[in-house]
Amino acid sequence: MIEYYTEGIVLSRDSRGELDRIVTIYTKELGKVAALTKSSRKITSKVSGHLMPGNAVRLRIVENKTVQAMDALSEKSKCDAKRLLPFLQFLDEVIPQGETDPELWDLITKTISECHLGPETYRQILNFLGFGADEMLCERCKKNEIAHFSLTDIMFLCRGCASILNLRPDEIVKI
Ligand SMILES: [Zn+2]
Repeated sequence: MIEYYTEGIVLSRDSRGELDRIVTIYTKELGKVAALTKSSRKITSKVSGHLMPGNAVRLRIVENKTVQAMDALSEKSKCDAKRLLPFLQFLDEVIPQGETDPELWDLITKTISECHLGPETYRQILNFLGFGADEMLCERCKKNEIAHFSLTDIMFLCRGCASILNLRPDEIVKI
């Protein structure tokens, strides 16, 4: 059994069975991890209120046969949920699992603490991860004026192609 204490940002959570959840957290020490929270759907759970998307958390992660989030303390984000949730979903899509990077950690925590969630932030993170938004062409028509990033297909699109594809607001971000 290995134990880690780390800071993290909760990106998403999903139900697992009747009582448990899988929480995806971008952590300082371990990069992106998907951790099980046992019985977190019970009303008496001590961790469930803390492990909400957007929260900055300090937590204990135990790796055994599974990876489990045990104890957590949280601070709620002050950003508008309408702008924060797509950003979290975006991070969940583009950050590879288990890679740590102190610079990316600083960039993301600063972005969230300042609620600086504009298109330039998305571009900065994509560039950082090597997606190279500034040199990218629209993957559909090859135009050199990308304006959107599709979360479902992980690809860049120009304004025209994005409107032709008619993606739902949760499937696309402006960059
Ligand atoms: Zn296009």
